[in-house]
Amino acid sequence: MSQIQDLLLQDTYKKHLQVGKQLKGKDSTCNGTDDLLSNVTIVKEGMSVVEFIQNKTDSLGPDNQDAFYVADLYDVVNKYHNFCKELSRVKPFYAVKCNSSKLVLQTLAILGTGFDCASKVEIDLVLSLGVPADDIVYANTCKQPSHIRHAAKNGVLKMTFDCESELLKVAENHPAAEMILRIVTNDTDSVSVLSKKFGACLPKCEGLLKLANILNLQVVGVSFHIGSKSKRPETFSWAIADARYVFDLGRKFGHAMRLLDIGGGFPGDDNFQPAFSEFTAVINKALDQYFPNKEEVEIIAEPGRYFVASAFTAALNIIGKKEDYFTDIDGKEQRKLSYYLNDGAFGTFRLDELRGKGVKLKPLKDYQHAQKHFPSILWGPCCTDHDIITEEVSLPELEIGDWIIFSNMGAYSLSVTSTFNGFHHPAVYYPLRKDKITITQKM
Ligand SMILES: *Cc1c(COP(=O)(O)O)cnc(C)c1O
Repeated sequence: MSQIQDLLLQDTYKKHLQVGKQLKGKDSTCNGTDDLLSNVTIVKEGMSVVEFIQNKTDSLGPDNQDAFYVADLYDVVNKYHNFCKELSRVKPFYAVKCNSSKLVLQTLAILGTGFDCASKVEIDLVLSLGVPADDIVYANTCKQPSHIRHAAKNGVLKMTFDCESELLKVAENHPAAEMILRIVTNDTDSVSVLSKKFGACLPKCEGLLKLANILNLQVVGVSFHIGSKSKRPETFSWAIADARYVFDLGRKFGHAMRLLDIGGGFPGDDNFQPAFSEFTAVINKALDQYFPNKEEVEIIAEPGRYFVASAFTAALNIIGKKEDYFTDIDGKEQRKLSYYLNDGAFGTFRLDELRGKGVKLKPLKDYQHAQKHFPSILWGPCCTDHDIITEEVSLPELEIGDWIIFSNMGAYSLSVTSTFNGFHHPAVYYPLRKDKITITQKM
């Protein structure tokens, strides 16, 4: 199976390279949703992402110092294989909103994942890759009626709901839909607390299941989301137990319950704690406890950041510099440096979690032997004080023209940018390593 998939991957990439050649010279910029395929390049064996960035910055020249991204699609492929290994009962439906770069979507489509879409445009994007409508879950509990009709027209059946009015909307616009009841979770520890906005609490479920009957709508399963960047694997266990309760309730009211959707919330950054394996251990145990019968239920998940976070690295150029002095607590005068970068809070660093204290970054130049570090501020390029990446970082002294690289930048970065002040998405480059291709050919 994986052999065929690897070979398929190569074919797709070759096709892209062909198209890439035709497009070369026309336009070298692209954005997260519309990659220009000329940005796929074959690189030499064993080349690291940092080496690639080094070569790129050396070759771009003074007229193209724009910020850019590098995506390692093999990282995405590895994540997929690891997901299937660790969660053998669960089929992933990738959450498109997390990063909708076409090559990421295409890679995942070839591997055989399903997709979690939240809008008409996302549905069309996924269908355009040749993904069957059955491999799409329309996982937005609050849908615009015209988008529901669009789903109906295109054969997308699976969709989530969490309230009466949504059932009424779907009954009117898509009576054949297969409804999935989304329940709340205890996600207050997550970076993104989705249960504030989505999900029915358990006491509400009975009324919703009865209303579905009255409206002649079929409810086929239960879904939840433990919140993005969760720190507590046990949340999965509680939510799976709650889902079991709603499953049984649904059957009591005559619904053919057969789908469990455990949502997203899996960590995607390298070295994130708790690790992915800690989440999967809890999930597998809870699935075996509450859903021991494998024939009874199809289990899916909606991972977003898990697949893409670590695959993307950003390279930003320093376009401005200032120095200030301040008196520290020992009464000593200290130097403080401000740098202005060419991407920021209105570009790919829009989410709070990508800014502030914990940001993972390092200068591209090897400053290992630089003796002195200075407290530094990193500003974005827009004309507002809100455009700031971090004001609490310690760096060696850098110069205008130097590059700073940020790792784990694949999730909720390229997909949430604005073009405020005329600054556009960074380009994304996709280096494919010769040695990796040879390995897959030998298999
Ligand atoms: C955003 C979202 C996801 C993906 O969440 P991650 O934390 O990135 O895994 C999955 N399902 C739904 C319904 C979402 O809104």
